[in-house]
Amino acid sequence: MLQQFPYHFFLLFFLFECTTIGFHEKKVREGMVFGEESQFRVCLITEPDITKKEISELFAAWNEELSFYQLKALPVELAVMERPGFWGTDILGYLMEHQLTKDCDRLLYLKGRTWGDIVFEVLTLGIFVGVGLKLEVQGAVEGQTNTRGYIKAKYTSTIQMLFTSPKSTLIHEGYHLLGCGHQLFMKECYEKIRDVKLLLTDPNRDPNFFPVITTRGKKILSRDKFLIRLRED
Ligand SMILES: [Zn+2]
Repeated sequence: MLQQFPYHFFLLFFLFECTTIGFHEKKVREGMVFGEESQFRVCLITEPDITKKEISELFAAWNEELSFYQLKALPVELAVMERPGFWGTDILGYLMEHQLTKDCDRLLYLKGRTWGDIVFEVLTLGIFVGVGLKLEVQGAVEGQTNTRGYIKAKYTSTIQMLFTSPKSTLIHEGYHLLGCGHQLFMKECYEKIRDVKLLLTDPNRDPNFFPVITTRGKKILSRDKFLIRLRED
């Protein structure tokens, strides 16, 4: 556990703290040109209790939001597996070690709900209500390439459903997967999405990869440009 600490600390440094992505500005958005409809493939690694119906409902909600930008996310079911570790950092660490394969533009892990999660929810509920501190992270996207992330995909019956849902989490993390950070108003994010779509015509782009501009402004035009190793072991 102690050995893992520096690694987790390093990873946490790149995480977005996820609350709200920003307020929509309908007039600004409608005044912008997002071009033709484009699709990108989101490869899914899911836990065994996630159903096909849940996946299709999640993507229907996300695609409704993406239609603002003439974009569509296509789910590709890649693998079903048991969680690689209890914490969100364990999941992100796992995703970071996996290269995107050629049929994947983004990688998304759908976290289910185990008895361990339920116990944790009960234990953290008091703190959540007491001081408004949300210990339980609903989802995250790594901030180095903005191509990989996870969401908590199961509906829960706790008080937290008042504040969030798997659909709203996916929409939120979905913006990070397109390179958006957090902002008070969405204009900056709209511009980022427009610029990402403009990269589709960049001659240097791998035609089989949907590009991304990271939150820090780095353009990523192909998969092999971001072979990352976080671990030195
Ligand atoms: Zn966020």
